[in-house]
Amino acid sequence: MKELIAKAEQTHTLLRGELIALLEDDGNLDAISAAADRVRHKFVGDEVHLRALIEFSNFCKNNCCYCGLRRDNKKLTRYRLNENMIFNLAEYAVKQMGLKTIVLQSGEDMFFDCDKMCAIIRKIKTLDTALTLSIGEKTAEEYQAYKQAGCDRFLLRIETTDKALYERYDPGMSWERRRQCLEDIRSAGIEVGSGCLVGLPGQTIESLADDILFFKQIDADMIGIGPLIVHPDTPLKGAKNGKFELALKVMALTRLLLPDINIPATTAMETLAPDGQVRALQAGANVIMPNVTLTEYRQYYELYPGKSSTNYSADKTLADVRAKITSVGRCIADDKGFRKRVFYCR
Ligand code: SAH
Ligand code: SF4
Repeated sequence: MKELIAKAEQTHTLLRGELIALLEDDGNLDAISAAADRVRHKFVGDEVHLRALIEFSNFCKNNCCYCGLRRDNKKLTRYRLNENMIFNLAEYAVKQMGLKTIVLQSGEDMFFDCDKMCAIIRKIKTLDTALTLSIGEKTAEEYQAYKQAGCDRFLLRIETTDKALYERYDPGMSWERRRQCLEDIRSAGIEVGSGCLVGLPGQTIESLADDILFFKQIDADMIGIGPLIVHPDTPLKGAKNGKFELALKVMALTRLLLPDINIPATTAMETLAPDGQVRALQAGANVIMPNVTLTEYRQYYELYPGKSSTNYSADKTLADVRAKITSVGRCIADDKGFRKRVFYCR
């Protein structure tokens, strides 16, 4: 195992069988995390990039079996913010909080058609900020229009590379189409963010290895990995949560194989383990996305229950994040945090 970890640290490649062996072995998490931490330091440095997350609508036309925003969850109070409200939050995050990226996330809400989204993007881009969207599957033309309006990055997790599993848990959606969306985002000239859920019932270790190889194959610029957290008002009610340690290991292996990308310490990690984000920062992560949505709406953006910092104000959330970063001897970046490609033998 030691040799495999050394190989990953030096060459940033592993064969599928090698990844599977590392994922299956229970005793090597600390060694993999330490190697990922060294690679993170060498390739992207000690700076942590902060991205202000605005959850602007929880309406969704999809029915993903794991997600609290799924359309069949009738218990959820739905909300959508208007253009001015979204802009005011973005302005506060940039001007008062000093954040350099705005992330707009929502369910797949058809109210925000292409023209409305582009108007919002253009308005936010009058601020000195990078802009990321995380609003689901769109057409190639729509991604191009977002780019023209000023969108810099897009987050669309593949969720799992196991097609059958994906189509079981995302009814009515097609894995191939989701993969095509990632290609269309890239072709539009937008930075590509993807990632996976760890702990879907029926998910195999082999498919997690495939997920990591997929991230490398698509040359992702950002990868977000989170454990599944079971939501009681979804068909996964009663299933087990994903394992924090396994999600952390998938994240650390992703850092070893994709050394120069951006990797967030995700909120789902913090929700499952009280020190989850700090442990992620020490196992390859270099991004945190503090939530700046107003508290009155946050409670309704319930992808999963117990979401960390749901009751905190934006200022308190940011103060907590800053404290976590400095507690592990890291600093906050003052640039916009685009991926800086480092050329190494791939
Ligand atoms: N609707 C958009 C963006 C919002 S969902 C989209 O689906 O791309 C953002 C992410 O939340 C999803 O990609 C999924 O990986 C994650 N998520 C949803 N339900 C979850 C759960 N129960 N536990 C952990 N993560 C979840
Ligand atoms: Fe909608 Fe995204 Fe949740 Fe799926 S994961 S139901 S697309 S918000």
